[in-house]
Amino acid sequence: MFEGREAGGPETARPNSDGGGKAWCEGRMGVNLSRVRVAWNVALVRLGVRKVLPREAVNRVRVEECGEPLVPWGGKWVREGVARRLEEAVRGLPEGFSLELLDGWRSPEEQARLREDAREAARNKGLEGESLERAVARWAANDSGHRTGGAVDVRLTFRGAEAFCGSGWKEFGAGTESGARVGEEAARNRGILHRARRAAGFANYPAEWWHFAFGDRLWAAYRGKRRAIYGPVEAPGGGENAEKRPEAMP
Ligand SMILES: [Zn+2]
Repeated sequence: MFEGREAGGPETARPNSDGGGKAWCEGRMGVNLSRVRVAWNVALVRLGVRKVLPREAVNRVRVEECGEPLVPWGGKWVREGVARRLEEAVRGLPEGFSLELLDGWRSPEEQARLREDAREAARNKGLEGESLERAVARWAANDSGHRTGGAVDVRLTFRGAEAFCGSGWKEFGAGTESGARVGEEAARNRGILHRARRAAGFANYPAEWWHFAFGDRLWAAYRGKRRAIYGPVEAPGGGENAEKRPEAMP
C-alpha cells in the first residue's frame, strides 16, 4: 500500500477505499509531530528548562570517526583523548581528591549483557511494554557512548575512599540526576567533580551524575558540536587484543 509513496512521492498516494490513505496521512502526521516534539524539547534544553535531550537529538549526530586508539586508564579501556582529559580532570581536583573509573569502553557482548540486566531490572520493577523498552533504552542504550570508548563512569574519591555524591553508581532514584537536590556534603562533592569535568572538556549526561562523555554523539549533542569524532569500537587494537584486560591505572 505504501509502494506508491516510495515510488512516486506523496502525490501518488491518495486515500482509497480500504482506508490505506488515511493510515498514511496519520503516519505522516505522526512523523511530523514527533519532529516537532524533538525540536521543541531540544529548544527547552537550550533554554535550560529541560535537562535531558531527546534520544533522537543525540542519535542524529553524524559521526566522523577519527581513528584514535583505545588505551588503558584506571583499569578500563578508553580513547586516548579521554585518557588525556581524565588526567587533566584529576589534576584539577583539590588536594586529596581523585577519580575512580567505574566503566569505560564496553565490548558489544558486555553491552548486550547490560541490556539483558536492565530488562530484568525493569521487569522486576513491574514495567512492561513500551515503558519497559523506554527504561531499557535509558539504562543501557544499544548505541551507548560506552561502545565508543568516549564515555566513562566515574566516582569521586577523597584519600582513597568514596566521596559520596548523593547516590551510588547505577542507583536509579531521586539522587541520580546531576541536578537533583542532594545533601550538603554530596552537593559539595558534586560541585568539585563537575567543575573538574567541565574544565577538562567532558560533557555530562544530566540523567546520571557519574557519566562523562567526550567525542561521542552525546558529547556533540550537549556541546552543540556539528559531529562526533568517536563511533563504536569492536575491540582494542583492531581485534587481536579483544580478550586482553587493561592494566591497572598507569
Ligand atoms: Zn555511563
